[in-house]
Amino acid sequence: MYDVAEIRQNFPILDREVHGKPLVYLDNAATSQKPRQVIQTLTDYYEKHNANIHRGAHRLAEEATAAYEEAREKVARFISAPDSDGLIFTRGTTESINLVAHAWGRKNLREGDEIVLTETEHHSNLVPWQLAVRDTGARLRFIPMLDDGTLDMEAARRLIGPKTKLVACTHASNVLATINPVEELARLAHENDALMLVDGAQSAPHMPVDVEKLGCDFFAASGHKMLGPTGAGFLWGRIEILEEMEPFLGGGEMIREVHLDHSTWNDLPYKFEAGTMNIEGAIGLGAAVDYLDELGMENIREHERRLGAYAHGRLSEIEGIVLYGPEKDRAGLVSFSLPDVHPHDLSQLLDEEGVAIRSGHHCCQPLMRRLGIAATARASFYLYNTEEEADALVAALVRAREFFGAFA
Ligand code: PMP
Repeated sequence: MYDVAEIRQNFPILDREVHGKPLVYLDNAATSQKPRQVIQTLTDYYEKHNANIHRGAHRLAEEATAAYEEAREKVARFISAPDSDGLIFTRGTTESINLVAHAWGRKNLREGDEIVLTETEHHSNLVPWQLAVRDTGARLRFIPMLDDGTLDMEAARRLIGPKTKLVACTHASNVLATINPVEELARLAHENDALMLVDGAQSAPHMPVDVEKLGCDFFAASGHKMLGPTGAGFLWGRIEILEEMEPFLGGGEMIREVHLDHSTWNDLPYKFEAGTMNIEGAIGLGAAVDYLDELGMENIREHERRLGAYAHGRLSEIEGIVLYGPEKDRAGLVSFSLPDVHPHDLSQLLDEEGVAIRSGHHCCQPLMRRLGIAATARASFYLYNTEEEADALVAALVRAREFFGAFA
């Protein structure tokens, strides 16, 4: 049984107050809170095992290495990766996508080649590709969004063709809550001998992910959005593609032999893990994955689907509110605006009630332009949120509306 009250007891921060009111944390798309189990793993690591990994010939180094490599196995299993050698620890989604844009893009892109993205991407799945095409002479193409917040798949079928070398798309939108048909995009990419990269920043924390079923070649995600520590995330890639790629960062640990004028590279995944990694971050992410596995990703998805639909329904009752994104098949977040209140003022007023939401362009400026707005307010839910918290959001919004109405 999925027992939210019991789950909440594992998250110490949820007990705190903000401005004298109970915290209602609805900014999970930006980062998640951490359960005791993850916090304790970090403490244990520093109190009992801390050492640099791989190169130490002593007991602590062996323990730290074993814990780090065990975390790699856990994360690989979590996304049903066929092997853990293709699982590379990074700082997060942004670094993972930059890794591919540099190490694969700079080597494989030429003038005349095309990368197909969508106009709904987060800046971290857009700017690295802008840099890659600037350096290689390739070109970016964009799958448009339909007015209902879903992708125009007819346009996608026209855009993905013989010139396409890679398709990169977010699995779940951090603004619209759209869950994109990445399997279909991967199929279209492969029909054209192109690769498929999935930005899983908003899917890996919230729904079961099976990279084999998705059919993607790269999958990127951030640990801090899935109960793990900040600064540790991952890239999974197909071994045969990673083998052919150039290194991203050079330095210690990623080499086999170093001469004064050249070097050779270490095996996967170490070829892409230069220097001292975020060891405790990766181990903490392993503990986060254990926690998610124990709850069950299907159960988490179902909880958030129900809660997201409830919040969407309650919000839609507010007069004049504009809700963004599709009506159905949504991830557990809602972006909205009120015609008479600026989203920034709204989040400030809600903060005074203890309700934490985010407002702004959410690192999706081109999408904001497409929607014809500068910003939205966004409430994003996670496995520990409740219907009472969605009610608190709606009540605080109604009061904010009254407050601004009084000054209108
Ligand atoms: N892609 C999407 C869809 C996101 O929501 C985010 C985080 N807001 C990112 C990428 C970037 O993640 P990070 O900042 O952890 O690298």
